Amino acid sequence: MIWRQLIRKTRTAEDAREPSQPAATSTPVEAAASNESASAGSIQDQRRLAGLQRQQRAIQFDIDQGELASAADNPWSSRIALLGEALDTVKADLERASRVEPGPWHDVPSSTVEIAQLKTGDVSSVSLDIAGERFEFAEDPDWAERGHQLARLELTPRSGDPMRLVPPNTPSGLRDALGDHLAASLLVLATDLRDRSLDNEPLPDAISLTDLARPCPICGGWTDWRGTCQACAHRQALMGALRREEGRLLDERNAEVEHRHKLVEGLPLARRRLKDVETEIARLGG
Ligand SMILES: [Zn+2]
Repeated sequence: MIWRQLIRKTRTAEDAREPSQPAATSTPVEAAASNESASAGSIQDQRRLAGLQRQQRAIQFDIDQGELASAADNPWSSRIALLGEALDTVKADLERASRVEPGPWHDVPSSTVEIAQLKTGDVSSVSLDIAGERFEFAEDPDWAERGHQLARLELTPRSGDPMRLVPPNTPSGLRDALGDHLAASLLVLATDLRDRSLDNEPLPDAISLTDLARPCPICGGWTDWRGTCQACAHRQALMGALRREEGRLLDERNAEVEHRHKLVEGLPLARRRLKDVETEIARLGG
């Protein structure tokens, strides 16, 4: 019974407030009634004095900060220097990350990729025949049954060995990389075919193995069925993250520079204000 607890809680809170309310309202009334004339001025003076003393402490704090900021060795300069070092590191990383390394590439034959089966429905599946090897992809039926149908489900490879598509003349150092690339590119193709079918879009006329491993125009490495180069995508993502970091550090450094400048610039005015406040305090006998 959560609502009962809530009501009880609200009542308890009200009960707790009740006795204090009349007391709070009665105090100023009583005070005003008993100290009508002469002492009213001195209460005002005391309040003003307390306010001035608070102001004095605040201005003194600004002056202390300003003097600290004017010193040759100050916390702002140290932070600015540290941020500068971090910026240099990020710039060097960005320089390194923007260098395009030649991507891995080896030619693949133009073997036909035949769509053996393309089924869309509760559970979609795609079967492709390439050079005598069958590659099957299907959605996980468990996920469909659980009602996760708002987003399209991921296809998963069910059969087929992409290593069988790696040409025998592939350098040994590239064989595994090419096998991995073809596995990923086949999944991209199967997903594209499934999506086109679901969206009633025409299927590609003819597909060959070459379409799954064309060279990237930037780094020369393999691109997948959609033309995505993993090496370039990774480089772009890394550069994006480094640029964001560079921007964040620049903003932070500018904020420190500005803060320090404001503190130093505000010193003469703060000193004048402190004098005025101190004069006023002395006048009130503080
Ligand atoms: Zn590339």
